[in-house]
Amino acid sequence: MKPFDVYPLNPIEITKALDLKVWDNKGIEYLDLYGGHAVISIGHTHPHYVKRLTDQLNKVAFYSNSIENPLQVQLSNLLGHISGKAEYDLFLCSSGAEANENALKIASFYNGRKKIIAFKGSFHGRTSLAVACTDNSKIVSAANAHDVEFLPFNDLEALEAAFESYGNEVSSVIIESIQGVGGIKVATPEFLSKIRELCNEYNAVFIADEVQCGYGRTGEFYAQDYSNQLADLYTMAKGMGNGFPIGGVAISSKFKPWHGMLGTTFGGSHLACAAAIAVLEVINEENLLANAAEIGTYLLKELKSFDKISEVRGRGLMIGIELPQELNQIRKNLLFKDHIFTGVANPNIIRLLPSLTISKKDADFFLESLDKRLKEA
Ligand code: PLP
Repeated sequence: MKPFDVYPLNPIEITKALDLKVWDNKGIEYLDLYGGHAVISIGHTHPHYVKRLTDQLNKVAFYSNSIENPLQVQLSNLLGHISGKAEYDLFLCSSGAEANENALKIASFYNGRKKIIAFKGSFHGRTSLAVACTDNSKIVSAANAHDVEFLPFNDLEALEAAFESYGNEVSSVIIESIQGVGGIKVATPEFLSKIRELCNEYNAVFIADEVQCGYGRTGEFYAQDYSNQLADLYTMAKGMGNGFPIGGVAISSKFKPWHGMLGTTFGGSHLACAAAIAVLEVINEENLLANAAEIGTYLLKELKSFDKISEVRGRGLMIGIELPQELNQIRKNLLFKDHIFTGVANPNIIRLLPSLTISKKDADFFLESLDKRLKEA
């Protein structure tokens, strides 16, 4: 047997990692500004995280959700406190796709409707919404169990027109307030506030997909917080476990649970909770939201002064650097010449999603390397 070949692979084998540094099997050191799609939030192998996980592994790693698990209570309290949304409840699962599917389901239970509004260029995982990203990626439609309408992003008129014509059928509106896979496009505060207003008017559910943009990355706990609009459901995963698979839905108190409403085998296991608690403890103790805001603002400001860059977008440590097509080698050069990992979004956008522990020194090393590669191009 061999791995099913669905990923284009870089010929680099990582054997060791610490904070933003990773080393390959030849001992070459790299700076990781991608963290495996925004997953590494508190740095690789953070000592507090490693200790908490190891200690937990030596006690109990897993038992089913049919027994009391005080770690789920501890995690909910901590998340409520740090996110500033203590009045929400938490449902735990194991990935972003699962979090979104559960959010859609909660919405459907709430208003008894099926129709979903999503936006072009968004990506909500390999869910029944997978078709959403066909604009700019090769992701194709999954079996579509839901009735999904894809509207243009940030288009107030299209949104209003949609609600006018079928608002009473809309179960939920799901949005990434910063599109990740779609190329770091930021929703305007007006757009988010219009979604809130229309959801209130038509009793539809507002779902913030914070799987990539959330968890402190922008300097606020949820990326959407900058708009001052509350979502009814916040989905999360990626940075939540710093590499340990865990996802969740923060659920407003207007939704009432009942036994059997939702469920999962692995979600909220002892080990997953230990990982997520360790992440929040480190975010809190090391003041990482402030660091994300500070270094992110610095990077965005400096990047805007590079004249060969077509456009710089994002907030905090979720940054898209759009380059002209003829500079499409820059990302590869950063990797193979400067040993810097970055991500990509189509058509030619370098995506930065570094750990929230990034230092100014790391940021400067990236800026100097990028400057060098742009000058030689
Ligand atoms: N939502 C967003 C915004 C994402 O970026 C992703 C993954 O990239 C997902 C959902 C799906 O998460 P997962 O791959 O953990 O299922």
